[in-house]
Amino acid sequence: MESLWPQIEPLLDKVTKPARYIGGELGAQNVEHGPDLVSWLLVYPDTYEIGLPNQGLQILYEILNERPDAAAERSYAPWVDMEAAMRTAGVPLFSVEGHLPAAGFDVLAFNLSAELVYTNVLNLIDLAGVAVRCDERTVHDPIVMGGGHCAFNPEPMANFIDAFVLGDGEEVVGEVNEVLASHRCGTARDDDDPTRRADLLAALSRVPGVYVPSCYAAQYDSGGRIAGVTPRFDGTPDRVEKRTIADLGSWPYPRQQLVPLIEVVHDRLNVELFRGCTRGCRFCQAGMITRPVRERPADQVRTMVSAGLDRTGYDEVALTSLSSADYSAIEETVTGIIDDPSCSGQVSVSLPSLRVDAFTVGTAAQIQRVRRTGLTFAPEGGTWRMRQVINKLIREEDLYAAVDAAFSQGWKRVKLYFLIGLPTETDEDTLGIVELAKQCVAIGKRYHRSVTIVASVGGFVPKVQTPFQWFGQNTIEELTRKVHLLRDAARPVRGLTIRWHDPKATAAEGIVSRGDRRMGAVIEQVWRNGGTFQEWSECFDLQLWTDALEANGMTLEDAVYRHRTEDEVLPWDHISAGLHRDFLWQDWKDALVEYGLPDCRWTPCYDCGACTGYGVEHVVASAVPPAGGSQGTGQDLSSGGQVPVRFLPTAPSGAAPALRPGRGPAELVGEGRN
Ligand code: SF4
Repeated sequence: MESLWPQIEPLLDKVTKPARYIGGELGAQNVEHGPDLVSWLLVYPDTYEIGLPNQGLQILYEILNERPDAAAERSYAPWVDMEAAMRTAGVPLFSVEGHLPAAGFDVLAFNLSAELVYTNVLNLIDLAGVAVRCDERTVHDPIVMGGGHCAFNPEPMANFIDAFVLGDGEEVVGEVNEVLASHRCGTARDDDDPTRRADLLAALSRVPGVYVPSCYAAQYDSGGRIAGVTPRFDGTPDRVEKRTIADLGSWPYPRQQLVPLIEVVHDRLNVELFRGCTRGCRFCQAGMITRPVRERPADQVRTMVSAGLDRTGYDEVALTSLSSADYSAIEETVTGIIDDPSCSGQVSVSLPSLRVDAFTVGTAAQIQRVRRTGLTFAPEGGTWRMRQVINKLIREEDLYAAVDAAFSQGWKRVKLYFLIGLPTETDEDTLGIVELAKQCVAIGKRYHRSVTIVASVGGFVPKVQTPFQWFGQNTIEELTRKVHLLRDAARPVRGLTIRWHDPKATAAEGIVSRGDRRMGAVIEQVWRNGGTFQEWSECFDLQLWTDALEANGMTLEDAVYRHRTEDEVLPWDHISAGLHRDFLWQDWKDALVEYGLPDCRWTPCYDCGACTGYGVEHVVASAVPPAGGSQGTGQDLSSGGQVPVRFLPTAPSGAAPALRPGRGPAELVGEGRN
C-alpha cells in the first residue's frame, strides 16, 4: 500500500480543522505492515473530535499492534467539507497513521456506539471504494466488521457489515485475527477463488461472540412480521452469545492513551474503573449488556493514573465507568490520586457518571481539592413513582443530599439529567422534573447567591436487550408536548435552565434501534439521499427517514410507537447478552407495577443469566459497598453469601454499612421470579 499523503496534503488548507487528518498524536503507533500480518483499519464513524477519545477503539488499537501477526491503524469520518474535497480529488478514505487507502486493509472495523451513525458507516465504506452491500463484495475486498453496544441488534446493519463482534473485544479480537490470518484474507492476497470469502466468513461465524449475518436467514410470517433468524449452515450456532472478559485487571489498557493535537471531547486522561453495572435501571442498555461488574484493582487504577499523567502531561483524569461513584474503593482511590506526590497536588479528578445515592460529601470534598470539574447527576425520573418504574431507586433525599454536598463544597452549577417518554409516565411525573430541579436551586441558594441547575431532558428510546424492549416509544407530538410542559413550568424559576433533545431525532433513533433486517433498505436510502452525520443537529433531517420508511412500506407507528407483545419474535432474539428473555419479561411486568429490584452486586442473585450463564462473577476491589450500595432499598447485606462476588486479593476488609429503611428482600425480588 502506498501513502496517499501527496494527494491529501493539498486538500488540507481548503477544509476546517485540518489537524483531524494528519495523525502524529502522542501515543500513535508506528505501524509496520507485512505480507504475514493481518491489517486492521479501526474506524470511528463520526468526527475525529468525537472518535479519538473512544476507549474501546484505543484498547483494540494497542492490543492488535502488540500482536506479532497484526497491524492496526485508525480512521475517522471526514467532516462534510473534507469528504467533498476528497471525492472531487478522487482520494478515498485513508488511515491517519500512514495515510494508507482503506480498501487496502484486510479489515475495516467499525465502532457502532449509536444508531444514528449508521448512515456514516455506509458512507465510509463507499468512500473507501468498497461495495456498500456485503453480497456485492469480492474476495479482494476487506472484511467489514462492527462492534459496540449497537451490535446487540445487528439486523438493521446486516446487509452492510460482514461480521459483528458482541461484548468485550479484548480476547475475541485475537481469535478473529487468527482466523483471518489462516484464511489469507483481503486485498493483499492474489488468489481469485471466490469461495474463499464465504469460507472465511463461515470460519468467523464459528468464533464464539462473532455473528455473521450471511450465515443466517431471516423468515417472516404472513403478516410481514419477523418469524425468526436461523442458521443456514451446520456448525453455525443458533444463538450468538456475547464475550465477557472475567478479569479487567488482566487488561490494563490503554497503556498509551492518545493525546490529540486539537481539542476533542473528553480531552483528559481516562482510566476505566470497572465494567458492567448491576443497578438494574430498566431503560439502560449499557448496564444490562455489560453485566457482571468487574472492578479494576485499586492499585492498578492508581498506577495507570500516575503513569498516564506522567506520559501525557494531562492535569485532569476521568475515572470512567457506567456509575463511577459505585466503585467500591472510590474514596480512597480519589484521595490516593490527589495526594500522590508524583502528581504534585495539581491533578483534578472527574467522575463522569455519578450515581446520586453514592455521592458523598467526602467524595465531593476530594474531587474539588484541585479544581472543580463539571458535576452531572442523573435522577432520570421526576417522581419516586417514575423512578420505581425505571428501577432507578434514588430518593429525593438522595438527590438533595448529593446536591447539598456539591454546593457545600463550592460548586455553583450542577447538571441534572432526565428522561421523558418513559413507560407509564404521567404529566405529574414529567412536571416532577421541575419540582426536583427547583428544590436543588433552593439548596444551592443556601450556600451561594447565584446558582445554576441545568436540567437536561432526553426523549426515551427503548433499547434492545432491556426490560423496556417491548415498550412503544412516545410519539414526536407527545414528546414535544412534554417538553413544552417543562419549559412553561420552569420559566418562572430563576437559576433553572431546561435543555432538551430534539424529539424528531429521538424518533429517528427509534426507527433504527429495534428494526429487523429490512430496515437496512431505509438506512441505505437515507444515506443515498445525502443523510450523513445524523447525530449532528445541523445535518439531521427527519424527512429523509420518514420518506425512506414510506418508500419501503413501513410506518413510524409500526416501527417505533407500537408496543411489542410477549409472544412476538424480536429481530434480535438470536443475539444474547446473557440475559434470560423470561427475566427481561418479568422485569418489564415488575416495572409496570412499580416493583423495585436491588443491586445484585451486594445482594443475592436473581439469575438474570449474565453470571450464571457464562460462569463469571462480579469482581470488586473492596468488601465494603459504597454509599447507596444496594439501591437505597434497605436490602439486608448480611445475606450476601449467595452473591457470586469475588473480592480482589488486595481488598481491605470491613463491615457492610447500614442501609436506609425500605422494602424488604422478599418483596423486592418478587414472587415467581426465576
Ligand atoms: S446473574 Fe445474578 S449476580 Fe449476575 S448480574 Fe445477573 S442477577 Fe446479578
